Formats: sequence, C-alpha cells, structure tokens
Amino acid sequence: MTARAVSIWGSTGSIGTQAVDVILTHPDRFRVVTLTAHANGRLLLEQAKKLRPATAVLTGPAGDSDFWKRAFRENGTELLLGREGLLEAASRGAEQTVLNALVGSVGLEATLAAIRAGVSIALANKEVLVMAGDLVMREIRGRGLSIIPVDSEHSAVFQCLQGEDPASIRRILLTASGGPFLRTPASELTSVTPAQALAHPNWNMGRKVTIDSATLANKGLEVIEARWLFAVPPERIEVIVHPKSIIHSMVEFADGSVKAQLGVPDMRIPIGHALSHPERLAHDFGRLDFTRCGPLEFLPPDTERFPALKMAYQALAAGGTATAVYNAADEEAVGLFLSGSAGFTDIPRLLEAALNGVPNTADPDLAGILEADRRTRDFVRRLASKRESAS
Ligand code: MG
Repeated sequence: MTARAVSIWGSTGSIGTQAVDVILTHPDRFRVVTLTAHANGRLLLEQAKKLRPATAVLTGPAGDSDFWKRAFRENGTELLLGREGLLEAASRGAEQTVLNALVGSVGLEATLAAIRAGVSIALANKEVLVMAGDLVMREIRGRGLSIIPVDSEHSAVFQCLQGEDPASIRRILLTASGGPFLRTPASELTSVTPAQALAHPNWNMGRKVTIDSATLANKGLEVIEARWLFAVPPERIEVIVHPKSIIHSMVEFADGSVKAQLGVPDMRIPIGHALSHPERLAHDFGRLDFTRCGPLEFLPPDTERFPALKMAYQALAAGGTATAVYNAADEEAVGLFLSGSAGFTDIPRLLEAALNGVPNTADPDLAGILEADRRTRDFVRRLASKRESAS
C-alpha cells in the first residue's frame, strides 16, 4: 500500500498535534508534505524532525527568520514565511489531502488555493464553510474533490450517510454537550470568567472552540457547516443536547430509521477517519464500555440562555455574507472575552449587533466575503470600545 501524501496546516495547535499523533502511529501510511504553524517555531521544528516534511511554514511573527530557516534547512525542510508562504505551499498541489486545522478565518484563501490545485480537504477549520460554504462547495464539486469533515459531529453524520441516498435524509441531529454552563442559571452567566468557560467537561480542544462550546456559538457554526457540507436545508438540521458526548451525531431517514455514530470523545478518532478515508486505520485511543457509560440523556437546547445558536439560523436565512458576519463577530467577541475586555454574555450581544449592523451582500465572491469579514471585525471592536469607555 502506498503512503498517502498529506499536509497539516496548524500542526502545533490542538487538532494539529493530535493529527501528528495519528500519523506517528501509522508512519508507513503517510508521507508529510507540508506542516504549518502560526508562531510556535520550536514545536514546528520538533515535528519536522520526526515527520520530515519537504516544506514548513511559519505564518505569524517568526522572530529571527534566518535562524529558523537555517534550522529547518539542516533538517532537509524548506521554511516559508507569512501568509504568502502559506498560499505558496497551498497552491503547489503536492499532496493528496490537506488537513486544515487552522483556527479562524485565515484558512479560507489557502483552502481555495489548495482546492484549485486539485487537493482534497480534511476540514477541521469550520470557518471556511461558515464564511464561504456555497463558494467552496462549488469549487470542490466542480473538480471531483472531496471535503472530509474532522469536526466530530460532521464526521458522525458523514459516516451515517455512507451508502445512503441524500434525498432520503429527513433530518440531521447534531449533538451538543451543552458545555460547562449547561445547568448554570442565566443570572450567573454574566459573571462567568474565561477560566470557567475554558473548562470543557468532555473534549480536549483549542481555546476558541471551547469558548464557542460554552456559548453554543460552536453549535451555530456547526449548523452552518452541516448545511453546506451535506447540502441539507437548515430546517432539516436540528440540535440536541447530549451531555455525555457519546453519540457524536445522528441522521433520521425517510423511513423513520435513525443512524448514529458513537465512540469515546477523542478527536484523534475523527482526525484518523478524515486522513485515511475511505479506509479505517486501527487505533487504540479508547473504546466504549456500554456497561459503564450510564444512561444517555437528551435535552432540547436552551436558546434563551444561549441565544447564539438561534442567531446562526437567522444568519443562514439571511444568506449572502450574513454567515461570514456571524463568524467574524464571534471570533472578535471571543477574543475580547478572553482578554477581559468583554463579558461572557456580551458575546451573543455583539453577535446580534453585528448581524443587524453590518450590511449584507448577496452572492458574494471571495473579495466580498473577506470585505464582510473585515467590516465586521471593525464594527465589533468599535462597539466594544464604546461600551468599555461608557462603563
Ligand atoms: Mg464539533
């Protein structure tokens, strides 16, 4: 069996390091072409020594770039720098699959460059589809490429849909853990601290997605992601809170049958699935013991306490650049919360203000989407600083 040529974008982050784990478990099955990191040059170099990629990219501030270039060259790896370096590596088309584990909206342009170079995407960077789902899926389908989801919920739905006629889907049920504040009264949510919000009960994830899980904005982003990934209208996508995260999502079909995908909550399982699809690699990342996982509980999501979820449906209904606005406003608001410049309940307030205040553009191209992204960030920052100076 030939090794699959893969690249990992964002290899030093939470998903990226877990992907490196998966690859190191099966070194004969993968050949790594490119690794990228934002600013963690030290860890990137350590990974490059193990995985021997042809190219590495530091997209953020690299410090002494001559030092880093030399260090990577000694290892036989070419180092590229900045956003331009990422776009250059992306457009070479030297791999079969890119695992895009970048955080936030920076991955959109690079993803389009990779797709245009004939590369399939293992997608953890859900912002790509939230910002530009229509555009990206058209580019993918037009080239006969695929996007294999890494997000655990979408990986579950993708697996449930194997061998099924898409026309027979009655509804997609995305499960949500409910986050750390599932049972916290609304009156206490205003004083939640970043440290409390970062303590996720089930999953080991990056900071942005962990805060999004606490506000349910993550589930909102996932509804939008599912709408484009599976070409299913929003009214057929439902969210159900399932605190144990054992069922990763479900699909109900026209005959009333429901398929679910289950497993221990370990991101290396969906990462491995996306990197090796349509094959399955053998892993030992933990197995479910049904006699010990206790009763499985299901609840409707509380959109009064967590209004960010219903705003995602509003953004989908508005269409155009509204989902890009939702994404950018959330990313900015989470940044402000983590730095102590906004409260936890300001996150959905800033989201709502941006959806109402940033003008929508119908049928946007890439430039229009990036413009909406930029305008939204300015809007949220200005609004937050006005509020801070008023208080
Ligand atoms: Mg998820």
